Amino acid sequence: MQAELPLAFQTRMSGILGQDEARDFFQQLDGDSPVSIQYHPIKGRIDSDLTAVPWYERAVYLPERPSFTHDPLFQAGSYYVQEAGSMFIAWLVSQLKMPERPWRILDLCAAPGGKSCLLASIMPAGSLLVSNEVIKSRAAILRYNMAKWGLPACWVTQLDPEAFQALAGFFDLVLVDAPCSGEGLFRKDPNARLEWSEENANLCSARQSRILRSAVPLLNQGGHLIYSTCTFNPAENEAQVQYLEELGLTRVGLQPPSSWGIHNQHHTYQLYPHRTAAEGFFAAALTAPVSDFDEREKKTRPKAKPKKHKSRNKDYTSEFPHWTKLPRREVELVSPWLERADRFQYFQNKQGRIYALTKELIAAAQELASKLPRIDLGFPLGQLKGKNFVPAPELAFHTALHPKIDRVEVDRETAISLMRKETPQIDKLRHGFQLVSYQGLGLLWLKGIGKRYNNYWPTEWRIRK
Ligand code: SAM
Repeated sequence: MQAELPLAFQTRMSGILGQDEARDFFQQLDGDSPVSIQYHPIKGRIDSDLTAVPWYERAVYLPERPSFTHDPLFQAGSYYVQEAGSMFIAWLVSQLKMPERPWRILDLCAAPGGKSCLLASIMPAGSLLVSNEVIKSRAAILRYNMAKWGLPACWVTQLDPEAFQALAGFFDLVLVDAPCSGEGLFRKDPNARLEWSEENANLCSARQSRILRSAVPLLNQGGHLIYSTCTFNPAENEAQVQYLEELGLTRVGLQPPSSWGIHNQHHTYQLYPHRTAAEGFFAAALTAPVSDFDEREKKTRPKAKPKKHKSRNKDYTSEFPHWTKLPRREVELVSPWLERADRFQYFQNKQGRIYALTKELIAAAQELASKLPRIDLGFPLGQLKGKNFVPAPELAFHTALHPKIDRVEVDRETAISLMRKETPQIDKLRHGFQLVSYQGLGLLWLKGIGKRYNNYWPTEWRIRK
C-alpha cells in the first residue's frame, strides 16, 4: 500500500490539470509502473515480439518485471533497464542540428548511467562522452554501468559541475538530467512520496539553477543543452528553462507526434503517466547563440590549442601526467586481446594498470586531462605480470575485445553461480585465461590451472541474492 500523495502536491496538480484529469492522474500514480529496457547497439538482441517504446528504436516494454540480477544477458550489458520516459532524450537528440563531425558530449548528472548508455549508443562514430557524477558512491555505480556497456569513448569523472569551468566552449551537447524532487517517481518508488516536501523542492530548484549556470558556458557555438527532470514541479521545470533563456539560450521548437501523448507546452515536454506509458518525465532542448559566440569565446575559450601528435612514437607523459606510454614490446603482448588494436594508443598508470585510448581522441583527451582535476580516460585492459597479461574484469564486457579470444560458453545457472563467486564444475576448461560467455556475450575471466580454476569476477560485483 502506497503512502498518501502529499496534499500540497495534489492541490498544485489539480490546479494544473483540472479536477477531472487530476483524478485520472492520481489514480495512475497508485497503479503499476511499466517496465522497459534499452538494448545495447551491438550486444543487444531486440525481441521484436515485444511492444516498442515509440521514441527510441532500441527500447521495448516488458510484460512483467523479471529478476534482472539473475539474467546473465543483463549482467553482460546486452540491455539496460530504463524508464521509458527517460529515453525520450534519444528522440530529442535525433531532432537537433548536431555537427557533421563526431560529437563531444557531457552528461553532467549521470549516475546511475541510463542516459549515458543511451547517448553513447546514438552518438556517431569517433564521438566522445564524458559522464560525470558528483557523489562518490554513485560515481562508482556509474563506472560499473559504463564498463558493462563497453563502448570505447565514454569517460567518467566525479566532479562538481563548477570544476568544468576551464572547458568553456568544449561540448556540442550537454545533458543536465538534474537532481529533482522526484514527483515523477511517485508510482515507481514508494520512498519518493515519503521524501517529498515543499522545502526540498525549493532546494532542488536552487540547486538546478546552480548546475545550469555551470553548464551553459561549456557549450560550443550553436551547441545544445538538454535539461530534464523526473518531476512535475513548474519551479524545477518551466522556470529553469526560462532561467536558461535568461542565460542566453533559445528553446528548440519541436513537435513530438501527438499519438505519443506528450504534453508540449511552449516547447517543453512533459510526460504524464495517465497519458503515456511512462513515469513523469520533463525535458526541453535549447541552443547556444551563434552570434554571441565570438564574444563568449574571447572571454572564456582557452587560448592554447591542443598539441598535434605527428609522430607515432611521441611520448605523451607530459600531457597525461599520471600515465606513461606503454613500451612497444608490451604493446605486442596486449594488442592481440583487442580487435583492430592499432586504432588505440596504450598507456600505463603508476600502479601498472594498462588503458587503451582511441587515437583519434588523443587531442581531446589531452585537453580534458589538462583542464580537469581528474578523469578516467580510455578503458582498462589489465596488467602485465612479467610476460603474462592479466585482463581487467571490465575488458570481459568490452565491444573492442577480440572475438577470437579463448572462451568457454556456459549456461545460465553456471553463469549466475560464477557471478556469486561459487565454483561450479566447468567442462572443457583449458589452461590460462578464458572468457566466460553467455549466449556469446562476455561476462568474466577464469584462469584454468590444472583441474582447478581461479574466478576473476570482482568480489564487489558479486551477486548476493
Ligand atoms: N542521468 C541519470 C540516469 O539517467 O541514470 C540520472 C541522474 S539523477 C536524476 C541526478 C544525479 O545528479 C544524481 O546522481 C545525483 O547524485 C546528482 N547530483 C546531486 N547533486 C548534484 C549537484 N549539485 N551537481 C550535479 N549533480 C548532482
